[in-house]
Amino acid sequence: MSAITPTTTDTPATKPSNFLRQIIEHDLADGTYASRQWAGSPGDAAHHAAGPSDPAKIRTRFPPEPNGYLHVGHAKSICLNFGLARDYGGVCHLRFDDTNPEKEDLEYVNAIKDTVQWLGFDWNANGTSHLYQASDYFDFMYRAAEYLVEAGHAYVDEQSAEAMRENRGDFGKPGVDSPFRARTPAENLARFREMQGGAHEDGSMVLRSKIDMASPNINLRDPAIYRIRRATHHNTGDKWCIYPMYTFAHPIEDALEQITHSICTLEFEDQRPFYDWLLDRLCEMTTLPDGRVVGGLLAQPHPHQYEFARLNLTYVITSKRKLAALVYDKRVSGWDDPRMPTIVGLRRRGYTPEAIQLFAERIGVTKSDSWIDYSTLEGCLRETLDVSAPRAMAVLDPVKLVLTNWDAVMENSGQAAVDGRYLDDCSAPVHPHLPELGKRHFKIGKEVWIERSDFEETPPKGFFRLFPPRVDASGATLAGSKTRLKYGHVIECSGCAKDAAGRITEVHAMLIPDTKSGTPGSDSVKVKGVITWVAVADGIPAEVRLYDRLFTDAQPDAGGKDFIESLNPDSLKTVTAYVEPSLATAKADDKFQFERHGYFVADRKDHAAGKLVFNRAVGLKDSWGK
Ligand code: ATP
Ligand code: MG
Repeated sequence: MSAITPTTTDTPATKPSNFLRQIIEHDLADGTYASRQWAGSPGDAAHHAAGPSDPAKIRTRFPPEPNGYLHVGHAKSICLNFGLARDYGGVCHLRFDDTNPEKEDLEYVNAIKDTVQWLGFDWNANGTSHLYQASDYFDFMYRAAEYLVEAGHAYVDEQSAEAMRENRGDFGKPGVDSPFRARTPAENLARFREMQGGAHEDGSMVLRSKIDMASPNINLRDPAIYRIRRATHHNTGDKWCIYPMYTFAHPIEDALEQITHSICTLEFEDQRPFYDWLLDRLCEMTTLPDGRVVGGLLAQPHPHQYEFARLNLTYVITSKRKLAALVYDKRVSGWDDPRMPTIVGLRRRGYTPEAIQLFAERIGVTKSDSWIDYSTLEGCLRETLDVSAPRAMAVLDPVKLVLTNWDAVMENSGQAAVDGRYLDDCSAPVHPHLPELGKRHFKIGKEVWIERSDFEETPPKGFFRLFPPRVDASGATLAGSKTRLKYGHVIECSGCAKDAAGRITEVHAMLIPDTKSGTPGSDSVKVKGVITWVAVADGIPAEVRLYDRLFTDAQPDAGGKDFIESLNPDSLKTVTAYVEPSLATAKADDKFQFERHGYFVADRKDHAAGKLVFNRAVGLKDSWGK
């Protein structure tokens, strides 16, 4: 794997490189697929021949195995396949690749459907639902296998698994023909039918394609196409005791569905010759020794496979198996833990479909493996939320600020006390660039919550927030700092109170009259610091979950590393914050910018009216490692 690609968020938007667009544009210009017919549902050559010309200019597919929740890598594939279909007048199928009987689960099937829709894509097009499952094609796959046997392109091999492995050879050594390779088609057909009929033990024999045991491409050394496996399948039950291998099933699935551009990740590059070999065999006509002309099972032109580099994202693991381990070992709270790179996790973290689509666009599609920096994903979220998210003030690490002259100033200005206390009204725009969203309203009073870090008894150089008067080295007294409470008044810090342990319990300051934001002359007092705050009178307590990266290592599982060792112990910190009253009506999934802090979302599981829970989606700036 090569170097980490630097974040691209600061560079102007350029058209992302995508070699697949060029291929499709060529195919459209050349009319490569113009002659295809589509019978309205997947099927063999005869089925499609009876249908009209395909209304879809291209067909792509997203083919997940329903054995886990989808992650950000799958999102790249979904955006790519559905995006290309959308952009070129095509259709994208959602196909559950459920040919492996052991691993599928209905929970995953439903979660995958939800995820694709949530990302903004639809498998319904031209009045048809293009939602398919590969196991519906088992009958055809069996027929195709029998055809290959009859045409002399496949044989039943009874070598032990070990002998088969041994005889396959390796990169430097050609394979050796199986002693069963020379059987006649009739013998093979009888044997294969026995396999299908349940006459043989699991693992006792396989059906293999008959290609070339000396091929320099090991994937062409007679790859297996059917194995015996007694397992109940979630769709076909106990109908089958033999199941097709993935490399045999996948090209057939594509062809039955009239896929034009079958896009997969780079590790399948060496499988492409078999993909083409198989589809060529199933498309062509052949004359059997007994004179029968057979074949032409699949429509032409058949699909073509193209490979692109999978997404590798720093600080992230994209393997369903490893993500499952995090869930089962309770390292995270579930598949939708906001630290998980699953789409359900990202969603709960505050990611939007727009942000994920922008990310997929921005990283582009290439043919060489690289690592994308996690900050690129975060940048996309920040960019999409900045333009839309309502603003709010929240104090995440609260300490009380007491305005010691508050009552006197209010009394002087002729304000009336309510229930023995004085409160003043403040307001702020919901969004600084969207005046149509109106204003938010909150109170200010004698006591307000401020961030503990906004006060320093002995200010470091360049600290412009709250610090008390102090005596310098020459013995001169320096005034306390003057700071503005954002959307409120200017105050001058006068000191603090501490408990017996020396911990600061209160910060004290004086209100400077006639400085309230938005009133005439309010900026007559110049300040260098502005702080956010929430009044004690109307602030609402909220649980705020401060999420960080799940791993401390940029490539947690590269080179077989144990990713558990680099789990970030500080990836979740939960605090009780005070938030401004406008957040009382926040609904689950609502997103906000907490001013000075970042973007937050009301947790979709735990947030409720009267029990506010916010997740930090992303900070305001990329501060990781700085
Ligand atoms: P995993 O190893 O996580 O199980 P997978 O590739 O086995 O991933 P599938 O459900 O078989 O998962 O994948 C469905 C589609 O998603 C495939 O077309 C695959 O190429 C694509 N895909 C999976 N992971 C990535 C990734 N990291 N980047 C881009 N595409 C991916
Ligand atoms: Mg897989």
